[in-house]
Amino acid sequence: MGPWARDQKSSLPSCKSRVLTKECYVQNTARQYAQIYAAEAQPLEGFGEVPEIIPIFLIHRPANNIPYATVEEELIGEFVKYSIRDGKEINFLRRESEAGQKCCTFQHWVYQKTSGCLLVTDMQGVGMKLTDVGIATLAKGYKGFKGNCSMTFIDQFEALHQCNKYCKMLGLRSLQNISQRQKEPRVSKNKTRPNSTTVKMAPGPPTAGRKTSRPL
Ligand SMILES: [Zn+2]
Repeated sequence: MGPWARDQKSSLPSCKSRVLTKECYVQNTARQYAQIYAAEAQPLEGFGEVPEIIPIFLIHRPANNIPYATVEEELIGEFVKYSIRDGKEINFLRRESEAGQKCCTFQHWVYQKTSGCLLVTDMQGVGMKLTDVGIATLAKGYKGFKGNCSMTFIDQFEALHQCNKYCKMLGLRSLQNISQRQKEPRVSKNKTRPNSTTVKMAPGPPTAGRKTSRPL
């Protein structure tokens, strides 16, 4: 089998296949963002190695009692949670490691690229190889993608993230200024999507011919 671990989730009943599908969908989406991040960060002088989110696959094995399983590379070494769900529990020693700092910078980079609509959470893994990450999006999602984590993680991130040298190398804007502007609506930049809820009827008599039903 080499470095491949199988059946990691085989204790789950098959009805959880939807959960596994979502898990793969989230991790592979986060992987895409990490690849774009790597392409931008790697050429910067002194940035060095960039964290990679490893791919994960959903497989179906019809002959097995538990037909759905996920397959991904087995990470060998000390498993570290660089960020965990409750931002208050951030371990400062971990955050000060190179991989930890680059994970925080990646979170900030994604946050800024998506205008604060999407955040990769649960940064964890071995060294620069990460797995089992989550994504939080605003309620309406981002470009058709909805995450699997509460959007409160985005608020926590805005409040708790402190820029490090890698954020500065990438020229990311400090979140401290952003959190002061937090009361402003964040959706205003999204011009491509027609938003019918913002259409307001002009005050005046109701349009002739249109029947409005009374509430029961
Ligand atoms: Zn930052």
